[in-house]
Amino acid sequence: MTLLNLIGGVKRYQQGTETVRALDEVSLKVERGEIIVILGASGSGKTTLLNILAGLDSLDHGEYLFDGTSVDSMDKNQLTELRKMHFGFIFQTYNLLDNLNVTQNVKVGAMLNDSIQETDVHEMIRLVGLEDKRDSSVLELSGGQQQRVAIARALAKKPDVLFCDEPTGALDEHTSKEILKLMIGLNEKLQTTMIIVTHNPIIANIADHVIIMRDGKIESKRENKRQEILNLDWSL
Ligand code: ADP
Ligand code: MG
Repeated sequence: MTLLNLIGGVKRYQQGTETVRALDEVSLKVERGEIIVILGASGSGKTTLLNILAGLDSLDHGEYLFDGTSVDSMDKNQLTELRKMHFGFIFQTYNLLDNLNVTQNVKVGAMLNDSIQETDVHEMIRLVGLEDKRDSSVLELSGGQQQRVAIARALAKKPDVLFCDEPTGALDEHTSKEILKLMIGLNEKLQTTMIIVTHNPIIANIADHVIIMRDGKIESKRENKRQEILNLDWSL
């Protein structure tokens, strides 16, 4: 079954006297295990689309199904439960807890799902390559290492979908490529569906499907064959 199915999604925002159609009749299907990259200029509606798909925001019109279940009709508690059980998040800012070490940060995220075992936490820290840092304060880590902690935290509960809003937006080229390579590896290993929002067209190379947003609409969709990210020219 199609994992995410958005049908004619409309989201409007009021800005003073003006109504902005942040999402304008957007339809999108995502299959389990895919990497989707959503590209577009600032203000094109990428974050709005991501927030709708992630159950963080609700549609004004249209329909949204997760694994065949209507998300539109869920109340606040059901949405919280949906996110807790099925979704993980990473952002441009890592949003770690500064006074906790690496393991504790991953646990805090993982505890959101009651079925998490201690071994899952350690396994995720190993998978993101931070085994030797697991007792370190997150303040001692580089930006790339902090994003690795955020990825481990998001994935420790083995979510169906990882939602990523500009995940490499604060990182340099080399570190960005390493993070993206890690994400591809984790997608292959764990089969986690990944939805990545970015304004950087190079990142589209890691996708199975690329969605181009413009003025709240999907301007185009294309299939892509995943590329080896480390070899790509970042300066284009
Ligand atoms: P992107 O992530 O591509 O930069 P957004 O989804 O954040 O775009 O925004 C799409 C449009 O909706 C923009 O015109 C933005 O100003 C508007 N918008 C987004 N969020 C809000 C909000 N909470 N209130 C008012 N307008 C918003
Ligand atoms: Mg945005």
